[in-house]
Amino acid sequence: MAETWEVVIGMEVHVQPRTRTKMFCGCAIGQLGDPPNSNVCEVCMGLPGVLPVINKAAVEACLKTALALGCEIPRHTKFDRKNYMYPDLPKGYQISQYDLPISINGRLELDGRRVRIRRVHLEEDTGKLIHAGDKLHKAWESFVDLNRAGVPLMEIVTEPDIRSADEARDYAQALRTLLRTIGASEAEMEKGQLRAEPNISIRRYGSDDLGVKTELKNINSVVQETRGWSESEQRTFSQRSKEFAEDYRYFPEPDLPPLELDRAWIEELRVALPELPASRRARLVSEYGLPTSDAAQIAADRELADLFEAAAKFSGEGKQTANWVIGEVAPSGRYPSPTHLAEVITLVGSGRITRDQGREVLAETINGGGSPAEIVAKRGFAQISNESELRTIVEAVIAGNPRAVADYRAGKKQALQALMADVRKRAPQANPKVASALFLELLK
Ligand SMILES: [Zn+2]
Repeated sequence: MAETWEVVIGMEVHVQPRTRTKMFCGCAIGQLGDPPNSNVCEVCMGLPGVLPVINKAAVEACLKTALALGCEIPRHTKFDRKNYMYPDLPKGYQISQYDLPISINGRLELDGRRVRIRRVHLEEDTGKLIHAGDKLHKAWESFVDLNRAGVPLMEIVTEPDIRSADEARDYAQALRTLLRTIGASEAEMEKGQLRAEPNISIRRYGSDDLGVKTELKNINSVVQETRGWSESEQRTFSQRSKEFAEDYRYFPEPDLPPLELDRAWIEELRVALPELPASRRARLVSEYGLPTSDAAQIAADRELADLFEAAAKFSGEGKQTANWVIGEVAPSGRYPSPTHLAEVITLVGSGRITRDQGREVLAETINGGGSPAEIVAKRGFAQISNESELRTIVEAVIAGNPRAVADYRAGKKQALQALMADVRKRAPQANPKVASALFLELLK
């Protein structure tokens, strides 16, 4: 029975665009941990007699996002009031966009799969309620913090094109990478700058119906319903029955003019977009010969990809540079300069130092310990790879170990290990590859 059903997921993602000020007033965005109600004014507190003003930077970030997602940008757009009562919404409505969003009909390409984007629109965030209570005395208090009220949000809505939890995660990650690459948002999930809400339904295979829908609020919802996610209990809980558009009594925001977006401005933004992650991924494969998995990992982080490309140009070693970037640099979270990274790669690649020593040199150069060459000299890391220098040592080892030499010549190839051990004793920096090649030559 089980395999006759499939899961159908659409995603709604709220993203805080990178702006200095709120969506409709001049209040600073502020930081997590600011004192409550320290970034507020008459507009975002919803006091009577004030007028909102549209934040151009938020519109610009939304347009860049829409362009990067290949959306159409209709000539006209407007804001609407979404009416509902809640203590964290002092105006009694949220300014959002209903039937004329800034952009429609885009797509995001995952690995081999396309997720269609229905719309990307702008709105404002709500405030935050803080509940405190004293069970013993049955005293309950709730506090309202309006620092977040009026913070701009882009809502990015997909068509129900996602078919598994893994794909939902891939979508959220790809979207985050894209937003960070184009600089539209820092998209830090821990700071609430990117909040994903999947709409999940199940249906029989082959059916086009979407079935009854459940929306999950704020992960990091059978009557149609909205469910919350409890991080501590790792389970969902019922928030409220899913509301329908008509419940909100949307109507055009009378305090804001409809926008007619300047086409020349949109073209400027389109031309100024940086290379997008999907095309960079493809280019890393074709230009540097990287395996697809390496290219995907590197292209997922713009800074990391910039470091990789610069270091690979200096070192001339695409795959080696990718190994170092993925294996050493990315996990440490601290980036060396591209020339220093390339220098370490060359030192290891040429056999001047071992890979372990290369790791130490890299860590030290990141910590400001000087250039890799300086560190190698200071720590006495340089391997002896010079053949004539090593020949002297190898000859001395042969002369000092007649027994092992005789065993080796009699066919006991493992005797070479004893000879190599003596090399290490006499010269710890000896390059083992060159030394063992010399034994093979001299003991023929
Ligand atoms: Zn304000």
